[in-house]
Amino acid sequence: MTSNNPQTREWQALSSDHHLAPFSDFKQLKEKGPRIITHAKGVYLWDSEGHQILDGMAGLWCVAIGYGRDELADAASKQMRELPYYNLFFQTAHPPVLELAKAISEIAPAGMNHVFFTGSGSEGNDTMLRMVRHYWAIKGQPNKKVIISRKNGYHGSTVAGASLGGMTYMHEQGDLPIPGIVHIPQPYWFAEGGDMSPEEFGVWAANQLEEKILELGVDNVGAFIAEPIQGAGGVIVPPDSYWPRIKEILAKYDILFVADEVICGFGRTGEWFGSDFYGLKPDMMTIAKGLTSGYIPMGGLIVRDEVVAVLNEGGDFNHGFTYSGHPVAAAVALENIRILREEKIIERVRSETAPYLQKRLRELNDHPLVGEVRGVGLLGAIELVKDKATRARYEGKGVGMICRQFCFDNGLIMRAVGDTMIIAPPLVISKTEIDELVAKARKCLDLTLSVLQG
Ligand SMILES: *Cc1c(COP(=O)(O)O)cnc(C)c1O
Repeated sequence: MTSNNPQTREWQALSSDHHLAPFSDFKQLKEKGPRIITHAKGVYLWDSEGHQILDGMAGLWCVAIGYGRDELADAASKQMRELPYYNLFFQTAHPPVLELAKAISEIAPAGMNHVFFTGSGSEGNDTMLRMVRHYWAIKGQPNKKVIISRKNGYHGSTVAGASLGGMTYMHEQGDLPIPGIVHIPQPYWFAEGGDMSPEEFGVWAANQLEEKILELGVDNVGAFIAEPIQGAGGVIVPPDSYWPRIKEILAKYDILFVADEVICGFGRTGEWFGSDFYGLKPDMMTIAKGLTSGYIPMGGLIVRDEVVAVLNEGGDFNHGFTYSGHPVAAAVALENIRILREEKIIERVRSETAPYLQKRLRELNDHPLVGEVRGVGLLGAIELVKDKATRARYEGKGVGMICRQFCFDNGLIMRAVGDTMIIAPPLVISKTEIDELVAKARKCLDLTLSVLQG
């Protein structure tokens, strides 16, 4: 990207000379130069070239209430002036963290009334791993250590987070996963369902959990962790048969269930949590992203009362972060939750914008490149294929990346996971903005197809 704008070129030079960007090919980015995002409002971003871009990904799944809400800036500013920092380690606390813990317990599923705060979703899952093992040790079953997770799940990028996740390209770097974490197949019918119907495949995928528990021995298994809907893996909405069968298995064996709600939480599905949407009964829920609408980093782990009762008998939990429950982050999260509640943003997703987005997105099914459109709430995925009937891909062509580039160039952020295009717009997106998103998506599908037909 060579820009005529000297300011853009200057920022790109700084990137090239000094910055190492996450999940990036450093050398390639040096050559190409990053797009510089300078400001944002509502569902729109602006880059340093003056382009207006519809953000179909809410940043990185996080900007629930949209960009540019002064109330959050004011809450941060007020808290910084009053008490910018204090730790929670040595039998101290401060008002924002306590008020936030209460607000979260009010919106969390019944019986989940305690929160351990972290700085991110990854740290939430690290906390989970240590808390699960500590829990079983207190109960006199220290062997219940193994955490069962899923292939192609995403649980963060720390050592524990990346190990819990099922991304092989992450495991390959750094000798992961760490011991005591095993992965079972994912409920991704479109890619892996073969000749099974979605319902048959959902039951098969769920049964893999039972088989793994029996193989390891229930006395060695501490917990099962899963995203209600896989996000980074490609917005994988499991077949309707999946969660009911998983619930039967969880009821049968004495292991903990952890819902990673980092994406599904705070309204993404049209309910407060993905666990509400599917009627799950987790023992722990990891949260981050929508918790603060991404305005400031914060994550956490919501814990069920029965689990807390056991932890209460275990003495010190030797774990915590300098920024656990940071007062400024807590004040911002509180204000974010207040806005979600008072403006009935999640109710509007459920009754109005989610049904509208899902209907409009499915109109893309008639496009020659589209093998499946799926989604729940304000999550959507479009599978790009060569052959609709066999679900065969354009192998080795990088179709997803081609489409993503067209989206960028035409004022739409839509992410590519392989050849799956995914969206997760801010929860405040309007019907008119949804029309714009779908129109731009169709245009970019046309442009992608024309390249393939070369
Ligand atoms: C983003 C994400 C995480 C990691 O959160 P970070 O704040 O990036 O550490 C964990 N789980 C899921 C489901 C996520 O989408």
